[in-house]
Amino acid sequence: MLDQALRTLKDVFGYDAFRGNQAAIIERVAAGGDALVLMPTGGGKSLCYQVPALLRDGLAVVVSPLIALMDDQVATLDELGVEAVALNSSQSADEQRQIAERLRAGQIKLLYLAPERLVQPRMLAFLQSLRIGLFAIDEAHCVSQWGHDFRPEYLQLGQLAELFPGVPRVALTATADRRTREEIVQRLRLEAAERFLSSFDRPNIFYRIVPKDQPRKQLLGFLAERRADAGIVYCMSRKKVDDTAAFLSEQGFPALPYHAGLSSELRSYHQRRFLNEEGLIMVATIAFGMGIDKPNVRFVAHLDLPKSLEAYYQETGRAGRDGLPADAWMAYGLQDVVFLKQMLASSEGDERHKRVEQHKLEAMLALCEETRCRRQALLAYFDEELAQPCGHCDNCVDGVQTWDATEAARQALSAIYRSGQRYGVGHLVDILLGRDNEKIRSPGHQHLSVFGIGKQRSEAEWRSVFRQLVARGLADIDLDGYGGLRLTDACRPLLRGETQLALRRETVKAPKPASSSASQLVRAEEREQWEALRTLRRKLAEEHGVPPYVIFPDATLLEMLRSRPSTLSDMAQVSGVGARKLERYGEAFLAVLAGSGVGVTEPAGDVRHELISLARAGMTPAQIAQQLKCSEKNVYAMLAEAIGAQQLSLDHALDLPPDLLMDIQDAFLEGDGELPSVADVAGRFGKVPVGVLHCIRAALELEFQA
Ligand code: ADP
Ligand code: ZN
Repeated sequence: MLDQALRTLKDVFGYDAFRGNQAAIIERVAAGGDALVLMPTGGGKSLCYQVPALLRDGLAVVVSPLIALMDDQVATLDELGVEAVALNSSQSADEQRQIAERLRAGQIKLLYLAPERLVQPRMLAFLQSLRIGLFAIDEAHCVSQWGHDFRPEYLQLGQLAELFPGVPRVALTATADRRTREEIVQRLRLEAAERFLSSFDRPNIFYRIVPKDQPRKQLLGFLAERRADAGIVYCMSRKKVDDTAAFLSEQGFPALPYHAGLSSELRSYHQRRFLNEEGLIMVATIAFGMGIDKPNVRFVAHLDLPKSLEAYYQETGRAGRDGLPADAWMAYGLQDVVFLKQMLASSEGDERHKRVEQHKLEAMLALCEETRCRRQALLAYFDEELAQPCGHCDNCVDGVQTWDATEAARQALSAIYRSGQRYGVGHLVDILLGRDNEKIRSPGHQHLSVFGIGKQRSEAEWRSVFRQLVARGLADIDLDGYGGLRLTDACRPLLRGETQLALRRETVKAPKPASSSASQLVRAEEREQWEALRTLRRKLAEEHGVPPYVIFPDATLLEMLRSRPSTLSDMAQVSGVGARKLERYGEAFLAVLAGSGVGVTEPAGDVRHELISLARAGMTPAQIAQQLKCSEKNVYAMLAEAIGAQQLSLDHALDLPPDLLMDIQDAFLEGDGELPSVADVAGRFGKVPVGVLHCIRAALELEFQA
């Protein structure tokens, strides 16, 4: 069995070896047993049912909650030469009939279905008339009523056990907590399933958490080393998402907003672009979540604190699914805590629920102020022990200095107490620093005994002290009043001089470049060839209407770059090059590696090539002009040329309101015969740059030729 599985792995998927528990899981399921698979994102869950699907007779039915995910999987399988389809409501009755026909004829190996579709009586009856090889239930945690991804339809999947006795079922999830696990077993009737629990460590993710100071500037600093990388920036509010996306675009980092306030068309458009293009940044609220299967997300940045470690783990986990180096970066400050606590206080729900949420927030804060290895702390929260510090987080790499803050903490706590436990950090710091201003004078705080006793420390140091006091529960935020600080019972021993307190010392120095992992994916001398490989991949992806990573994942391109295959049989050795892809794409990639591939090496081609990538990445002509240090007029000319050469679509080149675009097109198309020149129509669109007209005309000309 395992031999066969390995052969399938190599032939179809192009991989040499199974990872982690994959082999054991595949052996179990292929032999007809049930399985519960708990594996982190990027662990390789798909193969756990795709390989058995190919090894077993009959149809494999895969339940998946999101259409986008299904389409992605089907496209991927299609590229591998595996017959797979997804049934969904967007298909016409005719298409659906054709699919049913192919299913009946046994021509399809994998069928992807949304749960609500699967449990329709007609669908179940139809499936019962077919030979079913296995059921795979992906994202199985959706059955948990306590999780945030709850899908009521998942509850009905339990009936598969009776309706299809003897058909193995495998449930998969990246959610590990014990309660969810038990719910899955119980509700999906998986009592007989063998459980496969993997480590939830994500070794390729580098974790860094910095105190929030000037968040935008800090974010730019982080992004500076990650130009051309795709990533997600999470913000708490819709407004902040919009503002941040606009800000990043202005700064030359192509970014799109995503939140529940945008129309569903715009959201799915942005999501599609994020998947299909390279180097785009998605600025999003947590509404941007489960559908994100993009494997080469190189970083996840948080500008606001998530409300729990579960959320933090899940959100950062969207980075680096492909196993290549990725970064999780967060800026966090006291204001985040105030905000989250206020949200919590005003939320619905009983006291017990709020207490649980409160504890979760505290665990999140503890990670922020952690002085040991972040990864050890994070995994410990999920009951997993990492024996050694990881060596791959900020604390491990930079080292954490602590200082004896006993005295400072007492002073800070006294300032809170003596000013009446109602003032915010800004005011408290003013007191400690002895600042003489109106806000201090009006309540007479210049007479407090603590006034000016903290002059030997800087404002930043004091802010850090207050933040850490709150994070450690030694002070709390007064939510009934105006969010001022007050003492907690926990601070008494410290005030009485019975305990000592060590706090994290903020490092002001910039992190060493060595700690940024993603930017080192390719070395400078490899960059040109890397871009050439990516260009070819992008071209093929466009031709096939799939995201680039479906053609080949980054890891495969990287291996090509490094191992430099020169024959088809060398190429077949590259991980990720299966039989079908070798046949389809082998020659083309060999040609690029030999330096004679797509025309990226032609003179001046570099600028044009970069222009095309920037346009595809969503930059406006003005931004591109800035980036390439040339005039906008020049940019439009090159865009028009690229459109004419079919290297770029009009959509990518311009960002015009659809109405205006139509008006301009109509103007060009008014007469019969020849297209009018730009000069002929320019008069009517006085405000529109002529370059825009040139681009539109170039696109129309193509249609004329066709
Ligand atoms: P998950 O669903 O668990 O998040 P995926 O199934 O999407 O993970 O796999 C993540 C990535 O790892 C994919 O690019 C996949 O092709 C790759 N992968 C999975 N298993 C292997 C393997 N045995 N060898 C090489 N690459 C693998
Ligand atoms: Zn570490």
